[in-house]
Amino acid sequence: LIQAQGLHKWFGDNEVLHGIDLTVDTGEVIAIIGPSGSGKSTLLRCLNLLELPDYGQVIFKGQDITDVRVDLNAVRSRIGIVFQSYNLFPHLSVLENVAIALREIRKLSRREADVAARAELHRVGLQDKIDAMPGHLSGGQQQRVAIARALGMKPDVMLFDEITSALDPELVGEVLEVLRMLASDHMTMVLVTHEMSFAREVGTRLVFMDDGRIVEEGDPRQLFSAPKTERLKRFLVDLG
Ligand code: ATP
Ligand code: MG
Repeated sequence: LIQAQGLHKWFGDNEVLHGIDLTVDTGEVIAIIGPSGSGKSTLLRCLNLLELPDYGQVIFKGQDITDVRVDLNAVRSRIGIVFQSYNLFPHLSVLENVAIALREIRKLSRREADVAARAELHRVGLQDKIDAMPGHLSGGQQQRVAIARALGMKPDVMLFDEITSALDPELVGEVLEVLRMLASDHMTMVLVTHEMSFAREVGTRLVFMDDGRIVEEGDPRQLFSAPKTERLKRFLVDLG
């Protein structure tokens, strides 16, 4: 579905991605782990071209989306992304937060957008909150609105960047539950996470990054129980 080939990214003199190759097949749930500053977020942002790689290609459904002629907005709606911060519009209701994107990006009518937005909010378990304002929701609920908004674009793949990291511990579970549901619906996903037990349980592949490189990848259970490299061994030990 996505093939990243030889991605290099510099911020000034700082080379943040040192030639990343990553293939994402349909139906995979890829968990990316690694130390802070290792380039996980930058890689994710390069996959849907929120950051432009300095070298290398991203092939999405057979098309090189790093080609300057590609419509970036069309690509970004097919490759959904959700961040640690939910970025909801505080002055719009939950329903409107999801529906506005459907009207403006998918060009649905007001009525179609409302129907589709309700369906997505139902999917993430927020059918009772559609008229609430974001400020009256818990962090976990707000994050689920952000997920519903991205799902409304009918993406082929979803990217998640540490979406539970800012949440109080008791709210993490409800968001992971939504990811579990998406996995069982066979949504293709790439997620950067610190939730190791979740990565082991739901991930079909684990990718360990360090210093802008993929150091090790493979079956999550195998990697956690028998890391091949010293660097992954040390990373897992340091996590405790
Ligand atoms: P974390 O676990 O802390 O989220 P990460 O693995 O996601 O870390 P990145 O955010 O991809 O790491 O950052 C990789 C490197 O790139 C870091 O050295 C960071 O300071 C640098 N960097 C990231 N974004 C920018 C930017 N917009 N401008 C300059 N430097 C950046
Ligand atoms: Mg990051």
